[in-house]
Amino acid sequence: MSKISDLSRKREVISFAAGEPDPSVLPRKIFGELMKEVFEKVELVGNYTPADGAFELREEIAKFMKKYDDVKTDPNKIVVTIGGSQALDLLGRIFLDAGDIAISESPSYVNTLIDWKQYGARIVGVPVDDSGMITDELEKTVKKLKGERKRVKLVYTIPTGQNPSGVTMIEERRKHLLEIASQYDLILVEDTAYNHLLYEGQPPKTLRSMDKEGRVIYSGTFSKILGTGLRIGWLEGPSEVMDLIKMVKGPTDMCASTPMQYLVIESLRRGIFEDAKKKALENYKMKRDIMIKSIEEKLKGLKFTKPIAGMFILVWLKKGMDGYAFAEELLEKKGVAVVPAAAFYTDDSGKEVIRLNFSMVPPEKIEKGISSIAELLGF
Ligand SMILES: *Cc1c(COP(=O)(O)O)cnc(C)c1O
Repeated sequence: MSKISDLSRKREVISFAAGEPDPSVLPRKIFGELMKEVFEKVELVGNYTPADGAFELREEIAKFMKKYDDVKTDPNKIVVTIGGSQALDLLGRIFLDAGDIAISESPSYVNTLIDWKQYGARIVGVPVDDSGMITDELEKTVKKLKGERKRVKLVYTIPTGQNPSGVTMIEERRKHLLEIASQYDLILVEDTAYNHLLYEGQPPKTLRSMDKEGRVIYSGTFSKILGTGLRIGWLEGPSEVMDLIKMVKGPTDMCASTPMQYLVIESLRRGIFEDAKKKALENYKMKRDIMIKSIEEKLKGLKFTKPIAGMFILVWLKKGMDGYAFAEELLEKKGVAVVPAAAFYTDDSGKEVIRLNFSMVPPEKIEKGISSIAELLGF
């Protein structure tokens, strides 16, 4: 991976390797004006906020969750974090000890898997298909672990626009997942990083909104709409959990950046988030469509995911191929960067899979990049 990023810096490459919003759709000019306002207020630069975040931001996030997720919550059950990354790390910190088991989709977001392993957890994967996590497989896995007297501490899912697969879990599976959680007394972590990048249909109900038993902990972030550099996310969940989170968070960071918290407050209050979301949807949907069409035309017969949400498409190379070797050769010979997806899998079933990002690449380069992949594959 580091070799890939070194090379991408050295010469002009077409990069399908990103995981970030397109800087050209971010409201950078408005942010500049807002930052001037924010930085002129000494209390917003010279002061910490409470460790769980500025009260006004927690209030805005509660409104946000009411508006978009139909979730009624209150600011005291919300903790503002340094991105979704810290939200997920804090969950690892309070829930996971050496030898504990956490279940995730396979493939899943590699940073969470790595982070939770750092707390000593063993990650058990449940496969994903075009309808999301295969919940029948989850049930089998949980039963088997129970038979071995092993307790599952957390079940991690990215139900909408999953990273890396791009897949969105259908409602039936969401219901089933909650039923399984209820039956086996499980705690679910719902990572909503891509919930606002939905290109087709009505927003699926969040697990959090369907949960009647307080089993779902909601992890949110503004990164994928307002910019990953802001580093503002949040956790929302049952009071018992959030009280523990508040206890451990303060000593680690004091608080998330005060000016950035206020930038987000104003972005929510003044409709900047809503505008940025609209722009992002238009831009990424267009690029997604070009990428899917190119793959269908140029990589005939290869299996790939067709996301209705998120930023990523997975492509299965020919059986037996090695995604790492392919990605290296592709970069060296063709100047196209992709991410080998093996690390996202909890077992070795993803060796021949690569991940393509469509949010960051300029639209006019997509077809050329896919053609290069096709050439190297001998199409
Ligand atoms: C990007 C991402 C996050 C969090 O990113 P932050 O920038 O730390 O908010 C969390 N989960 C998934 C699946 C992501 O792709």
